[in-house]
Amino acid sequence: MNRILSWIISISTVAVVLITGILLYAFPIAEKGYLNKVSAYSFWENDAESMISQIDINKFVMNFLETPSTLTKKVAFLGFDAFRADALINLIDDENSEQGVQADRTNSAFALMKNSGHMYLAYAGGEKGTPTQQNTSTAPGWTALATGVWGNVSGVKGNGDYRDSSVHSVLVKAPEQYGMRSLFTVAYRSHIARAFDCDGEYAEANNLDLIINYVENDAEMQEYLLDCVEVGNPLERDFIFAIYKDGDACGHVNGFSNTSKAYVDTVVQADTMAYELIQAIYARPTFYKENWLIILTADHGGKGLAHGGQSDEERTIFMASNKPYNL
Ligand SMILES: [Zn+2]
Repeated sequence: MNRILSWIISISTVAVVLITGILLYAFPIAEKGYLNKVSAYSFWENDAESMISQIDINKFVMNFLETPSTLTKKVAFLGFDAFRADALINLIDDENSEQGVQADRTNSAFALMKNSGHMYLAYAGGEKGTPTQQNTSTAPGWTALATGVWGNVSGVKGNGDYRDSSVHSVLVKAPEQYGMRSLFTVAYRSHIARAFDCDGEYAEANNLDLIINYVENDAEMQEYLLDCVEVGNPLERDFIFAIYKDGDACGHVNGFSNTSKAYVDTVVQADTMAYELIQAIYARPTFYKENWLIILTADHGGKGLAHGGQSDEERTIFMASNKPYNL
């Protein structure tokens, strides 16, 4: 009886192995999830388990401002609207795969941060399934990054929401607490104004040096930014929060995807502009006595022709910086 039983077990085991083999042969490797794919890129210093939230990114900036330094502090907070985390493989080499570029782009802000700074996976959209969950949309994303609180506190959970005016952003904290000349600049006023107008009103009422400059497009913004980092220029600023906006507009028309040439071209273009700006910062004659924090990040990703939801494609973003983040 025992022999018959062990015979049945042996036959069953062989059958299971055979069937598994046949199935694996027929369906080679199941498509890995987006987050698995993105978190496997070689250039991140963290993984899917230790992603940095947009709130954490704001705290990183505030910690920098609060920490004493003998050098003059400056900040370039550069936003890339609707850049998916996987869009970065069009700019920098993922040594773990043959996807994307096989060598870092020249004149790339992200390659510069990867090679001389730090790259981290991050997320938008609040804490999923909790009261802090918010749309992966433009106004909520930039508001979380600027204020350090999610939409359940700031009031900005979707585009078009007004911010609670008692929630101050780093744009007014920089001049108020640290005497910095502050700037917020972006195209697409309609998406942003309701979430940021209260900063302008507070700055005006309290005589704080904040300029809010809504431009027509990224090219116009770039010219303006180059003036803002030029030593002695009347437009010179110490705290710059600027958003390259073309990625969002382009993705809604052509798809938020590395298979969309138009989207990838926009990603490359913004990367190049940011590189030019960072080089202008590094070339400042006063750079040796300054302590710059440079951050590159995004408000949200995208999926298909849209964003706003809670998929990994929409939630997963990045933070690249010239300074290390303590995970
Ligand atoms: Zn956006």
